[in-house]
Amino acid sequence: MSEDTTKHEFQAEVSQLLDIVINSLYTDREIFVRELVSNASDALEKMRHTSLTEKQVHQPDRELQIEITTDEEAGTITFQDAGIGMTREELEQNLGTIAHSGSKQFVKAMAEKDQKESGLIGQFGVGFYSAFMVGDKVEVFSRSWKPESENLVWTSDGKTGYTIDTVDEEVDRGSKIVVHIREDFKEYATTEKLKSILQNYSSFVSFPLLLGEDRINTVEALWRKRKKEITAEEYTEFYKFTSNAFDDPRFTMHFQASEPIELNALLFVPEQNTELFGFGQMESGVSLYCKNVLIDAKPEGLLPEWLRFLRGVIDSADIPLNISRESMQDSTLVRKIGQVITKRFIKFLDGEAKNETEKYNDFYAKFGRFLKEGVVIDHDNREKIAGLIRFESSMTEKGETTSFADYLTKAKEDQDKIYYLIGPDRATIESGPYLEAFKARGLEVIFLFDQVDEYLVQHLGEFDGKQLLAANSGGIDLDDDPAAEAEGDSLAEDDITALTEFLTEEFGDRVEKVTASKRLIGSPVAALTPENGMNAQMRGMMRAMNPEEAAPPVKVDFEINPRHELIKNLAAVRESDPETAKMVAAHLFDNALLDAGLLEDRKDLISRGFDLLGAVLKR
Ligand code: ADP
Repeated sequence: MSEDTTKHEFQAEVSQLLDIVINSLYTDREIFVRELVSNASDALEKMRHTSLTEKQVHQPDRELQIEITTDEEAGTITFQDAGIGMTREELEQNLGTIAHSGSKQFVKAMAEKDQKESGLIGQFGVGFYSAFMVGDKVEVFSRSWKPESENLVWTSDGKTGYTIDTVDEEVDRGSKIVVHIREDFKEYATTEKLKSILQNYSSFVSFPLLLGEDRINTVEALWRKRKKEITAEEYTEFYKFTSNAFDDPRFTMHFQASEPIELNALLFVPEQNTELFGFGQMESGVSLYCKNVLIDAKPEGLLPEWLRFLRGVIDSADIPLNISRESMQDSTLVRKIGQVITKRFIKFLDGEAKNETEKYNDFYAKFGRFLKEGVVIDHDNREKIAGLIRFESSMTEKGETTSFADYLTKAKEDQDKIYYLIGPDRATIESGPYLEAFKARGLEVIFLFDQVDEYLVQHLGEFDGKQLLAANSGGIDLDDDPAAEAEGDSLAEDDITALTEFLTEEFGDRVEKVTASKRLIGSPVAALTPENGMNAQMRGMMRAMNPEEAAPPVKVDFEINPRHELIKNLAAVRESDPETAKMVAAHLFDNALLDAGLLEDRKDLISRGFDLLGAVLKR
């Protein structure tokens, strides 16, 4: 060590990550080669881009390539690139900390759980640190592209921290990573082994890749090749290489167009939705290229937010090469590209839904939330995305799904509404009082179980011109379908009037109105959401947004079933024993609210229940 050696400790998350990496999380150790080549390739892409805008570059004429050498005797592998290199601060920042919050959360989760159990690590490139899977010492010689930069070496054993040193002799621009291979993994330090590893994905490296004297790739951009010339394996390898992924892509969309914009897009949907595991928001992994040259690895505003689960590449020959990040964001061309790709991708999913239904449904089960988000936030494509939404309904079996389009093919001729019910699960919705009238009339009701579904229906509003309407809203005028008319005698008109007046009086301002229902069949009563009123989901949303504020009092349309024994008896008891009738009415009201998900004060339900039981026993 020289005088100016500085010693550093790894950030806690890095130590944890290294611990996971070293302790055999990966069965597949050879991936470290891919990770280091991928970093080298990124650094070269950045260099190519930097030299378009910067005049002063250290060693401007250095060939943009990656050189790999091995020393079997010494047991080392060296990866040298002529990329942008790193300054002292960058070495500390990039190789001593994990800046990305998603990775931090991941490391935390992994440290808590049994690490080996989870196949999830593939979603998170551990990148550079993978070198410690096979190495017990790693040196990174680096020299930034910036003029007057230092000659530096970063050294670590992957355990106790790292040092940064200046080097006396001149370091070439870029980075040279020397991995000292552990005794038990010496086989990796042989040329044959390395060659076979590199060949898997070398063709996706867009710079010359040299192993010793041998050039092992011809540079080609897979996305610009013709589809017919690409195999499924190549697509998968490309996905893994560019996305630092370990899983296989569940969908691959290769899209090429020349009009109105010249575009080549190769997009992947990963196997896992890591947001479902609580690892924070996924980050878009689609990079923007112009004729094979990387413009931006994380272009903001290119694709809409809800497509953040996509991985891959978009290449357009029409983008000016030296476009800056800032001007890119408000470039009409970039926006246009985003729109074209979004529409294409929606169409692609639609095709998959039709032709590969099972595969699509599996995708939907994991990624459906993104589509719902799309309906809510993506005005331009709202209806198209809504076409991709799947749900159970009163006409599907449990666990089977349908779509809005399917729904409409089954709709009655004059039906101008799409009915839905939101509830925690199928059984709850089916046992509630709202469904029976629709079932009796052969009207399909969509079942929605997700918390975000209230937002979904509110933002969508209608599909194919048909209004979406909650089946538990008041004021739905269902036909007097004789076949659907409930069996049995009804209370007389006078008795109905007397009873509804009595109940209106009893319930006071907790009801908008009390009416005799046409829709109820097996249930005695139901609480409905009045027009312009708030249902349980809206109240829930309001509470979530303003937890401090008291929600407005519950107000419902109350319907009674004049054909139901209980209601007929209530009408009789109202005259003979009004006190008991009041207790029964209160209890019915509580139960109706409970069914509607609107019973917010449970203690009254219980005490009123006891009062009623007491009254029954006294008789
Ligand atoms: P990732 O590549 O996913 O960001 P890594 O752990 O592989 O994560 O690398 C961390 C950072 O270190 C990179 O983002 C990059 O800024 C820097 N880096 C790694 N390798 C190189 C290299 N060969 N040349 C320049 N910078 C590099």
